[in-house]
Amino acid sequence: MVHTNKPVILGLKKSFGFGDRLGLAGPGHLAALKESSFRGMLAQQSIREISRTRRRADQVVEAAQQAVEEARYTRPWGADADHLKTDLDILSMVEAGFTYFTLDPSEAVVQEADTMQEDELQAEAEKLVREGVMPKGWEERYLGEKWDIDQGPPLAFDEESLLRAAVKYARATAEAARLHATVARHCTDRPFEVEVAVDETIGATTHREHLFLATELKRRGVSPVAIAPRFVSRFEKGIDYVGDIDVFNEELERHAALARKLGPYKISVHSGSEKFSLYPSIARICGDLLHIKTGGTSYLEALRVVWREEPELFKEIAAYAASHFSEERGSFLVSTTQEEVDALAHSWPADAELAYFGERIGRQLLHVTFGSILVLGRRASGLPFNEAIHEVLAAHTDEYREALALCLGKHLSLLEPEEA
Ligand SMILES: [Zn+2]
Repeated sequence: MVHTNKPVILGLKKSFGFGDRLGLAGPGHLAALKESSFRGMLAQQSIREISRTRRRADQVVEAAQQAVEEARYTRPWGADADHLKTDLDILSMVEAGFTYFTLDPSEAVVQEADTMQEDELQAEAEKLVREGVMPKGWEERYLGEKWDIDQGPPLAFDEESLLRAAVKYARATAEAARLHATVARHCTDRPFEVEVAVDETIGATTHREHLFLATELKRRGVSPVAIAPRFVSRFEKGIDYVGDIDVFNEELERHAALARKLGPYKISVHSGSEKFSLYPSIARICGDLLHIKTGGTSYLEALRVVWREEPELFKEIAAYAASHFSEERGSFLVSTTQEEVDALAHSWPADAELAYFGERIGRQLLHVTFGSILVLGRRASGLPFNEAIHEVLAAHTDEYREALALCLGKHLSLLEPEEA
């Protein structure tokens, strides 16, 4: 099918990303967006999710296009190629029509810098110059400088903190610039925007690291439309924020101030679904310079419809998920353990909807096992779960749309600025 509507760049307007692992959530996403002041990133998929669900990049964009056409949606919308790590990843996403490229240089982040002694840091920093990652005399840009940001005291480096930030992030900024050049080379026929994401590093991104990262990107000619830091405490999949909200807010205030001063660019919040306790302050602190990514929530709402309409199918899915949890949880930030999953799977709960969709263990179990459910799992009858789930959703399109409108509508309404 030829689609006349296409994803475009959204610029510095606040935006909300909707991942859709099944390709059926578009109508519900548009219904949720109806009352919202956010622009929609209606296609959003990481390479990891595309390979885990055995979909093709162009199918992800097409599913969004089809929903847009059916709903006669006329506002601009975007398509986010999430967590790109290689040139090959980028090429397939460019060809599929994506317009927003999330560059993930986290493999070039040197985590060990956090604990290196000063002489080690010195040696690594010299290596950066020798290998041409940093220019000779680069320290002069930073030492003795002060960055006044409109939140809290000015930021400054001493020699040790500067070396630590540089050893940790210099190679990552070079890698981000390299990926950016690849996007630019392939997108000669259309405008594009890039995000730089370091949200999957181990420790929280400090304000000095953010400052160094953004400054070095700029020096290399990369102007991201968004940066995704790793936030303090835990942004686990599928559940609300785990940690001290005041500490989060204080940290975010300064990240957002840096984004205004050094860009402006948006602060991108990954694993952004279900962070209800944070939304009002995120909206207040970031204003228009905000991008939120959600993904698994739409898949969980699909399974909720399966539970309500075909409980026997859902029970088979839940059992299969429990037996694949430990191999699937690896790359996701979740605190749920195999023991907890086994205990849940041991006997069917009296309130299964609450246990699987309202509480941490059930939600995270379903959240991380989508790969095995959608690709490998089969019903006792032999029918693949993927087909069985599609059949249920095709028979209950209104119900799925309304479940999504309710759930994501709640996300979006908590993110609207409070009326003065
Ligand atoms: Zn992420």
